Amino acid sequence: AGGGRGVVISDNWPGYSLDLFTYPQHYYGDLEYVLIPHGIIVDRTERLAKDIMQDIGDNDIVVLCVLKGGYKFCADLVEHIKNLSRNSERFISMKVDFVRLKSYHNVLIVEDIVGTGRTMKVLLNNIEKYKPKMIKVASLLVKRTSRPDGYRPDYYGFEIPDLFVVGYALDYNEHFRDLNHICVINDHGKAKYRV
Ligand code: 5GP
Repeated sequence: AGGGRGVVISDNWPGYSLDLFTYPQHYYGDLEYVLIPHGIIVDRTERLAKDIMQDIGDNDIVVLCVLKGGYKFCADLVEHIKNLSRNSERFISMKVDFVRLKSYHNVLIVEDIVGTGRTMKVLLNNIEKYKPKMIKVASLLVKRTSRPDGYRPDYYGFEIPDLFVVGYALDYNEHFRDLNHICVINDHGKAKYRV
């Protein structure tokens, strides 16, 4: 698929002021800035759906949603693929699963974020035991880490600096999943929701 490194958000990107958008009142004072507004996430996800359709259209696939952080991205991606399927000559017949996996399917793993890539490598090793016909990985975000062996998914929306982000289902100790935008948490927020 095209798109290279996805939308690259550079280390010196200051983000958007929180005052420019709306967000839940209970997070006032807890965030530093908006890294990626919700609308851009949705627009980029629509394009990823198109790329995926181009590559694996006319196939049956199992979409494996990695809980919990992946549920928003997974739901939006599946919606976009469904819309494209309905309105074009190509189609994908999809089953969505969360934990279990059956053999001999094409599998699309949908993740929220790849940091070091360790989590994804472990998951891929587990899934390969089921000998799926094909495995593709889609992640909304990939962190720019210094590791040369950094894992790169087949599809991803944004390459971001090595920052801890929350929102759009990504959490900090289960908080911030109800925030639409992807944001950077501040020290006050970290202290407030530390366990
Ligand atoms: P990795 O093994 O690739 O370093 O980390 C992957 C997992 O760590 C992700 O699936 C996610 O659950 C969590 N994670 C890594 N970076 C972040 C982040 O910036 N924010 C949040 N909320 N979770 C993260």
